[in-house]
Amino acid sequence: MSLYKSQPIKIYNTLSGEKENFTSIHEGNIGMYVCGPTVYSNVHLGNVRTFMSFDMIFRYLLHLGYKVRYVRNITDAGHLTDDGDVNNDRFVKQTRLEKLEPMEVVQKYTVYFHKVLDLFNFLPPSIEPTATGHIVEQIELIEKLVANDFAYVSNGSVYFDVLEYNKKGLNYGELNNRNVEELLANTRDLDGQNEKKNPQDFALWKNASPAHIMRWNSLWGEGFPGWHLECTAMSTKYLGEYFDIHGGGMDLKFPHHECEIAQGKACNGSSPVKYWMHANMLTMNGLRMSKSTGNYILPMELINGENTFFEKAFHPNIVRFCFLQAHYRSVLDISNEAMVASEKGFNRLMESIAVLNNLQAKNTSSLNIQSWRQNCYDAINDDFNTPILIAQLFEGARYINLVNDEKETLTQDDLEVLKNTMHSFLFDVLGIKNEKANDNNSDKLEGVVEMLIEMRKQARENKDFAMSDQIRDQLLVLGIQLKDGKEGTTFSI
Ligand code: AMP
Ligand code: ZN
Repeated sequence: MSLYKSQPIKIYNTLSGEKENFTSIHEGNIGMYVCGPTVYSNVHLGNVRTFMSFDMIFRYLLHLGYKVRYVRNITDAGHLTDDGDVNNDRFVKQTRLEKLEPMEVVQKYTVYFHKVLDLFNFLPPSIEPTATGHIVEQIELIEKLVANDFAYVSNGSVYFDVLEYNKKGLNYGELNNRNVEELLANTRDLDGQNEKKNPQDFALWKNASPAHIMRWNSLWGEGFPGWHLECTAMSTKYLGEYFDIHGGGMDLKFPHHECEIAQGKACNGSSPVKYWMHANMLTMNGLRMSKSTGNYILPMELINGENTFFEKAFHPNIVRFCFLQAHYRSVLDISNEAMVASEKGFNRLMESIAVLNNLQAKNTSSLNIQSWRQNCYDAINDDFNTPILIAQLFEGARYINLVNDEKETLTQDDLEVLKNTMHSFLFDVLGIKNEKANDNNSDKLEGVVEMLIEMRKQARENKDFAMSDQIRDQLLVLGIQLKDGKEGTTFSI
């Protein structure tokens, strides 16, 4: 039996504002779309946090035995800083700044994005489509929207008609629980307003001015697509008109995802997504991490220590652990103290993992490993509550130490369950890179430490305690801890 049948999950659905029991549209299969990066500059740590939340969710759904098609796009055109013209096109701006072709900008930052994801041990999505690769699909959708009277052409641009959408009995603002008047009050006076019937209408296609170098031919003249439409085009193409999960950062709830719902309903007559999921922001100095305000840190700067914010460099595993120690729907404020605390906890956990292999089985179990295992599942089944899951893994570490100290006992079967559960949650679900498993030198290192343990034993037998202490202390300096027990000496790295 697939694990997902015995481990039902609850997901907080932004659309209903409630935690709901999750059931996939097609039994055993899940379609998940997550808005990807706008590749006009380096992704910052805030972006990484959002993508990491969905990487963990993807990993857990796979762990449960679902067949997941995970689509995460690359926005390589059309994401305007405003709803305006060429001066607001992020790509065109960057192209000028760096004196590069638009596709050189896109390539440069896509490569960086992938490097960062590799560094943090992300699983690749099933499909990673680009906006520029789906211009034809976007044009087709616009034609449909115009034909169905949901959009109008103005000056070579095409806008979605929000009031007309509502007149047809649909409900713009449902994701954000706002009505059109409230949205109107929050709409800034943006460029292009004079082309629109109403300020809350949004661009599906923008007429390209002569200076705009990213342009495509269309029925309405040369132009480029609006940002919201690309996600509708790519999600429906690969996942269908109605799919299971759509995710992104909290800041995309409005207007981006509101517009996606409107586009989906207007094109296909029904809401496109069953569960809308939004990840919360990473803050620094209490303020949202963002490129535009300068309040950001790049992933590589944190890893190599070349920054003025953190006192030292941190391993990618520590960053991952620290991020997942917060729930994906909570704000996380990154700080030196938080990273140092995570590092300490992480090392403690990994020390117990190292001991795990050396535990001796007994005839009876004095600990209830099955119920601890279910506690781990209960935590993550409850809207992916990774902080509680990690607390349960620390409980597992405590069990390991108790068994190691011979204060508690476990049978061989229970030892296996303990080991499998610790390993699958830490490495498969939370995505911690198992350096030991991947490191070809780890066997050699173990051999060397075993040799030193043997030499220390001989030194003790010869009553050369100075030598035996020196071996133990020097290994400790290198982070290798020896532990003398009844069965001999063991070590943890
Ligand atoms: P962008 O490249 O600006 O489209 O952003 C890519 C993803 O990162 C989106 O899902 C954003 O919501 C998310 N994001 C942007 N800033 C932050 C932040 N400070 N913390 C967490 N996620 C963020
Ligand atoms: Zn999107």
